[in-house]
Amino acid sequence: MAEIKPYWQNYIDGAWGDGGAGRIDVINPATGARLATQALADSADVDRAVQAAKRVHVSGALSDLRPVERGRMVQAMGRYLLDHIDAIAEVLTLEQGKPLWEARIEIEGAARYFEYYGNQAETVEGRSIPLGKGYFDFTTYEPFGVSAQIIPWNYPIEMTARSLSAALATGNACVIKTPELTPLSTAWLAQAAEAAGLPDGAVNILCGLGKEAGAALSAHRDVNQIVFTGSVPTGIAIATAAAQNVVPCVLELGGKSAAIVHDDADLEAFENDVRWGIYFNAGQVCSAMSRVIVHDSIHDALVERMVGVAKSLSVKPGIEQPEFGATMGAMVSEAQRDRAAAMVGQAQTDGARVATGGRKPNISGAFLEPTIITDVTPDMAIASEEVFGPVLSVLRFSSDDEAIGMANGTSYGLVGGVFTRDLDRATRAARQLRAGQVFVNEWYAGGVETPFGGYGKSGYGREKGREALWNYVQTKNVAIKLGA
Ligand code: NAD
Repeated sequence: MAEIKPYWQNYIDGAWGDGGAGRIDVINPATGARLATQALADSADVDRAVQAAKRVHVSGALSDLRPVERGRMVQAMGRYLLDHIDAIAEVLTLEQGKPLWEARIEIEGAARYFEYYGNQAETVEGRSIPLGKGYFDFTTYEPFGVSAQIIPWNYPIEMTARSLSAALATGNACVIKTPELTPLSTAWLAQAAEAAGLPDGAVNILCGLGKEAGAALSAHRDVNQIVFTGSVPTGIAIATAAAQNVVPCVLELGGKSAAIVHDDADLEAFENDVRWGIYFNAGQVCSAMSRVIVHDSIHDALVERMVGVAKSLSVKPGIEQPEFGATMGAMVSEAQRDRAAAMVGQAQTDGARVATGGRKPNISGAFLEPTIITDVTPDMAIASEEVFGPVLSVLRFSSDDEAIGMANGTSYGLVGGVFTRDLDRATRAARQLRAGQVFVNEWYAGGVETPFGGYGKSGYGREKGREALWNYVQTKNVAIKLGA
C-alpha cells in the first residue's frame, strides 16, 4: 500500500492552494484513525473559483471550440482516471469505506461518464423552424456558463464525473464543492483536466463546509446553473438560493425505493437483486432497494432467501477486499452508522422484527451488519424514511393495488421495481409507479445511457442519458428577416 499524502489542497484556476477556512481531518471509517487533512475553502476561495470559471466562459476558451475538440478532452479525462485507477481506488476506499473492488467499479463508472458525454458533445444540435418566405430561423444551444456542482460522499468520484462530464461536453466551466467526509479522491479529476488540456479555470475543485463554502457557492451571483446530489433539507436550501438568483438547478435527492415481488417472480434470481440492491456500497445509494413489498404467499420463502444473502456477506475493512466477492465494507462514518442502527432500534420498538443483522459487529470502525427487517407496516418510520445504510425493510401485500399503494406511499419517488413473469402486470406497474425509473426483473438495470432522476421529494431534473445534456444548455432562437 502506498503512503497517503498527509495534506491535500484545493484546486482553483489551475493552481493548488490552501483554504481560507483552515483544514479538516479526513477519517478512515474502517479504523476511526485520521487518514489525512484537507484544505477547507471559505467564501473568498469560492469567489476566486467562480471568477476563474467565469473568465473561461467569457473568453470562449471552451464554448467557442468545435464540439469534437471538447469531446476529445472530456474522453481523455476518463482515460486518465483508468490509467490511475490503482492509486485512486486505494484513497477512495480509505476515505469512504467501500471495498477496494467496489472503489474500482466506481472509478470505471466515472470513466464511463467521460466516455459517454465526450461522445455526446457533437450531438447537441439545433433545428431550423420554417417561418415562410422572407425568414430564416434557427435554434442553437449555448452553455449556461458557470456550473456549480455540490457533491455527496457516497460516490464522490462517480457523482462528480456525472455532472462534470456533461457540463464540460456542452461548454460550461465548473466549480465543484467536494464532500467534507470524502474530499481526497476527487483530486485526480483536477489532474485529469490538466492532463486533457482543459484551460485553467475550466475545472475548479474545492472542499469546504456545506453551510459555509457550499452555501456561498449556491448563492454566488456569477453561478449560472447548479447541480446537487444529497439530502432533501440541503436540496431545499440550495433550490432557495438558486431561486434568489433565478438560476436553474438539478436536484438528485434521496429515495425509499421499493421492489414489488409477485408470486410468479424468479426468487432465486432475486437473491442477486438483494445482494446489489441494498448491500452494494453498504446501502449508501440514493436508488437503493430499501424496501421489498412481497406477496403473502411467498413471503416466508423469500425472507429465508434474503436472510441467506445477508448472512453470506463478510463485513471487514475495504482495503482488505481487493477481489470482487461476497463482502461489504464500512459505512462512511460512525455518525451515519449510529443513525442507521438507531433507525433499526426504533423499528423494533414500533413492532417490526429483525430477521438478521441490525448490530454493530465486534470490530472497531463504522460497520453495521447486513440487516433485514420484517413485519414492517406502512405507518412505521422505517417504511418511509431513508436509512442510507445496509438495511432492508420487508412489507407484505395480497393484491396488486395494495402493492402499488405501498410502493407509492412515501414522499420520495426515485426508482421502483417489479418482479414478475407476467408482462401485463409488469407494464401496468411500470405505468402506476410514481418514480423516475422502473426496473423490471433486475434492480439497477440500465446504465449511463438511461435517464435518472426523481419524482416528488427525490428531486427534479434528469442526470444520465441524453436528457442530462439539456440541463447544461439554454436554447437561443435566431430569427432572420431576409432581403427581398
Ligand atoms: P448533505 O445533503 O448535507 O450533503 C451533501 C453535500 O451538500 C455536501 O457536499 C455538503 O457539504 C453540502 N451541503 C451541506 N449543506 C449545504 C448548504 N446549506 N448549502 C450548500 N451545500 C451544502 O448530506 P449529508 O449530510 O452528507 O448526508 C445526510 C443524508 O443525505 C444521508 O443520510 C442520506 O439520506 C442523504 N444523502 C443522499 C445522497 C444521494 O445520493 N441522494 C447522497 C448522500 C447523502
